[in-house]
Amino acid sequence: MPPPLAKPATPEPAAPETVAPGSVTTGSNDSDDGSLAAAYGATSANSGLVPLTLARRSPQADDVEIAIEFCGLCHSDVHAVRGEWGGQAWPLVPGHEIVGTVSRVGAAVTDFAPGDRVGVGCIVDSCRECESCLDGLEQYCENGMTGTYGAADRRNGDAITQGGYSSSIVVDRRYVLRVPDSLDPKAVAPLLCAGVTTYSPLRHFDVEEGDVVGVVGLGGLGHMAVKLAKAMGARVVVFTTSESKVPAALELGADEVVLSRDEAAMDAANRTIDLIIDTVAAPHDLNPLFRTLRVDGALFQLGLPSEAMPPVNPRALIRRRIAYAGSLIGGIAETQEMLDFCAQHGVVADIEVVRAEQLNEAYDRMVAGDVKYRFVLDTSTLRAPAEEADA
Ligand SMILES: [Zn+2]
Ligand SMILES: [Zn+2]
Repeated sequence: MPPPLAKPATPEPAAPETVAPGSVTTGSNDSDDGSLAAAYGATSANSGLVPLTLARRSPQADDVEIAIEFCGLCHSDVHAVRGEWGGQAWPLVPGHEIVGTVSRVGAAVTDFAPGDRVGVGCIVDSCRECESCLDGLEQYCENGMTGTYGAADRRNGDAITQGGYSSSIVVDRRYVLRVPDSLDPKAVAPLLCAGVTTYSPLRHFDVEEGDVVGVVGLGGLGHMAVKLAKAMGARVVVFTTSESKVPAALELGADEVVLSRDEAAMDAANRTIDLIIDTVAAPHDLNPLFRTLRVDGALFQLGLPSEAMPPVNPRALIRRRIAYAGSLIGGIAETQEMLDFCAQHGVVADIEVVRAEQLNEAYDRMVAGDVKYRFVLDTSTLRAPAEEADA
């Protein structure tokens, strides 16, 4: 029996041996045309990211096999890799901001062909039958969407899904996105999570020319919210606690920056905003933000704090018919719509490309907020450490 964790194995099959697709293997191939992928993942909550080899299933009738070029680093990845969300299966290869090219397709796939540039976001399957799925809201699937990593893959023997810090992935065509050729593929990767997570509530609120959108927090999500809201024609006001972020916010296209700890500035912003996109994941008081909203305004909270938030004052909501809402990524059709919108408006993420061996350092920098605004893994660097370790 192979050890649960293998140092990188050679991509070529050694001796024939049966392993479950999606599981980690020491380096043997599973069958006729399944394949091995070089990857980086965690073997426990304390392991950090280490080189691994994944067995990917051979493409079934509806499957698209993707040679991954780039994968964005999301804050969720850090939480999962460090076991902060509990209930985690190990080993775990994170990554749900995937961009690559199609390498093979299953017999029933007619909408994708080898060579096509494609993307995969946070969802690789859902029940396809419930009201949410039928409405194109797979992220709210009543039977639970299948996440791109760390989830039981119900149509593939409940193998645990493994994500995009990897040289390849196999995904059902229904969950594969087309990446417009005009966009830089490495800067597209973060659109698949950070982009659609902010696009969806902006669209749900029907943001248009003349609306005023407030953005709270200027990280991976916040910087996308600024760009997308601007592209929709809105006036954008960034709320930040840190004066040092003011120039960066203006550079991204914000029309105004309000220091949220400056009471006079917050008073001046009273009743000026139509919609707030709050991207801050740490507990914070929303009541001062509600006061900046106009009648019928809304605040969408996108960050999920691990500790309790200060209580919301219902009076603040009632007196202006304010909606306090949450939102989770976006459905598949909406993600495609977002990519097409970004192509039309030339919107991509601001990124810093990292090599595989820089991933752990990049995680530390993400936690420290030291990135403008998203790290993207260049998966062509995955092979290098594998070859060294084999030597
Ligand atoms: Zn994410
Ligand atoms: Zn469903």
